[in-house]
Amino acid sequence: MESIGSFINIKKQDLHFSGCSTCEGDCCNGAKGFAAAPLILEDFEAVYKNFPILFSIRDHKLSAYVLLNDGKSYCKYYINQQCSIYLQRPPACKLYPVSPYFEHILVDTACPSVNHNSGYSLCENGKLNSAFATKRLENFVEKLAETHAFFASINRLEHFEHVGNLSGIPLFRYTKPSDNPYIQMHLESLKHSWFSVSLHSLKPTLAVS
Ligand code: SF4
Ligand code: SF4
Repeated sequence: MESIGSFINIKKQDLHFSGCSTCEGDCCNGAKGFAAAPLILEDFEAVYKNFPILFSIRDHKLSAYVLLNDGKSYCKYYINQQCSIYLQRPPACKLYPVSPYFEHILVDTACPSVNHNSGYSLCENGKLNSAFATKRLENFVEKLAETHAFFASINRLEHFEHVGNLSGIPLFRYTKPSDNPYIQMHLESLKHSWFSVSLHSLKPTLAVS
């Protein structure tokens, strides 16, 4: 696997990162970056108090996403050109422009600071500089397998309601009573309903925060 969109596999790469000081927060802007990031189970706890968590079902496969913005504008926590929840920002934000993909490590070349010779060494001879790693990368393949196993255990289409689409991602909420902690965090996260413009079914049932 060499690349996915603008994300390239670091396995044969020497890359540098020149810092965020001259960037206008492209990765926080849905018009330039991304609107949603896929979650593994350990991410639920880190994001549900600040962002909506929605499920997606494609090709009969269930996954979960944190919705970071409306796909057109900045994350609501991007204030005065900085992250206002820096210490509590989602794991995907903490890692960016690095992102795991199964056993691979990818770097987003859409980040304007990723380059081949200027600033901090991001990866060398295909090895990620530990300064750019977080705990999310540790045992990632095992954690991903655990996540997929949980999603498979709740994957019954009749238990989900389609609530809208975001950047082409079909999004669902869980509709059955459950005391599962991940389902509880998903349901609790739906109070962050500023996405009601995009998510039509959430509008009449959830208060706008
Ligand atoms: S990580 Fe990249 S895209 Fe995000 S603010 Fe820094 S330079 Fe910009
Ligand atoms: S939580 Fe912070 S770092 Fe993440 S998209 Fe929002 S403003 Fe950017």
